[in-house]
Amino acid sequence: MSFTLAIVGRPNVGKSTLFNRLVGKRLALVDDQPGVTRDLREGAARLADLRFTVIDTAGLEEVTDDSLQGRMRRLTERAVDMADICLFMIDARVGVTPSDLVFADILRKRAGHVILAANKAEGKAADAGVIEAYSLGLGEPIRLSAEHGEGLNDLYSALMPLADSYAERATEDAPETDVELPEDDDEITDTVPQPTEAKPLQVAVVGRPNAGKSTLINQILGEDRLLTGPEAGITRDAISLRTDWNGVPMRIFDTAGMRKKAKVQEKLEKLSVSDGLRAVKFAEVVVVLLDAEIPFEQQDLRIADLAEREGRAVVVAVNKWDIEEDRQAKLKALKEAFERLLPQLRGAPLITVSAKTGRGLDRLHDAIMRAYEVWNRRVTTAQLNRWLSGMMEAHPPPAPQGKRIKLRYMTQAKTRPPGFVVMCSHPDKVPDSYNRYLVNGLRIDFDMPGTPIRLWMRGQN
Ligand code: GDP
Ligand code: GDP
Repeated sequence: MSFTLAIVGRPNVGKSTLFNRLVGKRLALVDDQPGVTRDLREGAARLADLRFTVIDTAGLEEVTDDSLQGRMRRLTERAVDMADICLFMIDARVGVTPSDLVFADILRKRAGHVILAANKAEGKAADAGVIEAYSLGLGEPIRLSAEHGEGLNDLYSALMPLADSYAERATEDAPETDVELPEDDDEITDTVPQPTEAKPLQVAVVGRPNAGKSTLINQILGEDRLLTGPEAGITRDAISLRTDWNGVPMRIFDTAGMRKKAKVQEKLEKLSVSDGLRAVKFAEVVVVLLDAEIPFEQQDLRIADLAEREGRAVVVAVNKWDIEEDRQAKLKALKEAFERLLPQLRGAPLITVSAKTGRGLDRLHDAIMRAYEVWNRRVTTAQLNRWLSGMMEAHPPPAPQGKRIKLRYMTQAKTRPPGFVVMCSHPDKVPDSYNRYLVNGLRIDFDMPGTPIRLWMRGQN
């Protein structure tokens, strides 16, 4: 039912650090056949509700002679052959090195599923390296900090669909599912990856206690599954429920169910916040559920802001609309409050629903699908550069200390959420206000509401 993950990459990128984090004290096996140095470690790993075997190819740094290349290659090949999934790690603070290219080549030829991770990615110093990692042609890199435990949520998101497919393969009559990794980002495609059985759309429903999260999820599931207890994946970290909502395979992360499990009443508030945070990290689309009677409470704002910072697609749903009397006026007030209190989510859909009666749920479904589509949106380089020159004409970049900032070229570096790189002179001198001008422009001109947009300024090297 489980799978094997090999962590590969050149020495010193942080493989052992990640291995230790995943395994903790649960080191199960050590490869110490006679005559073989202990160069492959194997352990029982745990990441949220996933259980798997992890292989680490560390130990190479002790080898300093010129056989390094050969040994590295053999060891990596062995690990790759043993594994179902390979996690290829580079050091984001160093960027892509020639020996990274050697590894990438081995993996491309030999490995089934490859997950690319740019480690040591805490802090801005790693941004350039993360972007460079796209050039390996192994898809979107996960930003990791093995040392600080950051990015494990994204690792989880990348592993979970693959893990599901291994679980399914283990059952007899399940169809063979070919799980695709995210598209190579060098290739411009207009197609949004469609949720599948093996890779359902991951949605989190978050909001303050009593907003109606359980009611909503029950309404979506069409049965009292939450209250009777979810079947699979009851973990401390998140409860997720598989469903097909209007024909779309989804995995819904529930944060209310966990709260209901908690025995101690006083802890409810606190617990539900940290559950919400966790669910946000696992989700692709976050539904922030507000209570129409008490909308935009501090807690709602915090979680919506967190969803933005984590780069998730966001839909705001206002619940209990059935008891609202003056709906027109209320909606107007809500929209104003939204603009004022959550400017960072400008344009995100605001959907009124009644979890109790089920009204508005189809619209909520459509809004989720649309937010997901926008989150995956790709704009071609040609379009971007035409757009950029128009933006510069309308409003030229400033000239700090008499030096005009030249924006030379722009390209989309990533999706989920969309991220753009602008090559320019004096990248550190570009004021925030100009950044905001460009981000807002992108949002409007390329119709990208409800998704965070990232923009990086880079100097030419
Ligand atoms: P390996 O040779 O690939 O197994 O690398 P190690 O796990 O031994 O790590 C090499 C060095 O990088 C060690 O000094 C780690 O403490 C450091 N390191 C590992 N992960 C991170 C990280 O996320 N951030 C930073 N700044 N350093 C890290
Ligand atoms: P949770 O804490 O966010 O999971 O909230 P619950 O789903 O437990 O709902 C809290 C309370 O709000 C319950 O008494 C529900 O019956 C009520 N409630 C939930 N949704 C609606 C709705 O759409 N309309 C009305 N009138 N009440 C609702």
